[in-house]
Amino acid sequence: GRTETLLEVNNIEVIYNHVILVLKGVSLSVPKGGITALLGGNGAGKTTTLKAISNLLHSERGEVTKGSIVYKGERVQDLDPAALVKKGVIQVMEGRHCFEHLTVEENLMTGAFTRRDGKAAVERDLEMVYEYFPRLRERRKSQAGYTSGGEQQMCAIGRALMSRPEMILLDEPSMGLAPQLVEQIFEIVRAVNEGEGVSFLLAEQNTNVALRYAHQGYILENGRVVMDGPAADLRENPDVKEFYLGMS
Ligand code: ATP
Repeated sequence: GRTETLLEVNNIEVIYNHVILVLKGVSLSVPKGGITALLGGNGAGKTTTLKAISNLLHSERGEVTKGSIVYKGERVQDLDPAALVKKGVIQVMEGRHCFEHLTVEENLMTGAFTRRDGKAAVERDLEMVYEYFPRLRERRKSQAGYTSGGEQQMCAIGRALMSRPEMILLDEPSMGLAPQLVEQIFEIVRAVNEGEGVSFLLAEQNTNVALRYAHQGYILENGRVVMDGPAADLRENPDVKEFYLGMS
């Protein structure tokens, strides 16, 4: 079967502060229904790529100066982030960004604010989120600021799901989490991908875990894609093994 391409990034260049060239022609394509990993070390340009897609660079004095970003056949790089959310693309930022003073459930409900399909549908989706994240159901009345790092990451992903996205851009979900929790988060990402058909583009420094859950991957170095392919091929690639998967 032919897979539909959801998102296409064509040869984009990103410059910060008018002078610092950070992305030097990045191209990638995200198929509908898949999990795509954006890999690379600290400072390679993963976050910048995600922010370019969701149009969040302006507040950082960054801009896309070349290339195009196309979502379902439509050029989206001039849309504001809220318009992109309406089209079904939502970003979960690095460092989680829950509202600390709201409860877990209130945080989840903020994810539904752009929806116009009624209370019953939103409540159904809250139940759906709790089914994927039983831990969030247990903690639903807790103030988010007092929950653990793992729970806050879950809360951020859950909140994104409440907007009924087609695609989630997930920045460094493993950051600061113990290995067992990282595994749990990725299990849930896989379950959501399979169960709801949500496509993921996730940035990860943890190549090992990302390539076990993703279907395909792109490796960034210094603002360029240096390698890409099916996750299974990347896992077996000698260079990837040597430089990204450690010696194990
Ligand atoms: P990390 O895992 O640290 O997030 P990354 O691969 O996501 O790494 P980016 O955050 O995209 O990398 O950063 C890429 C490069 O751009 C780095 O050299 C960084 O210093 C630079 N950079 C990021 N944000 C800005 C900014 N607002 N102004 C200037 N340079 C920036």
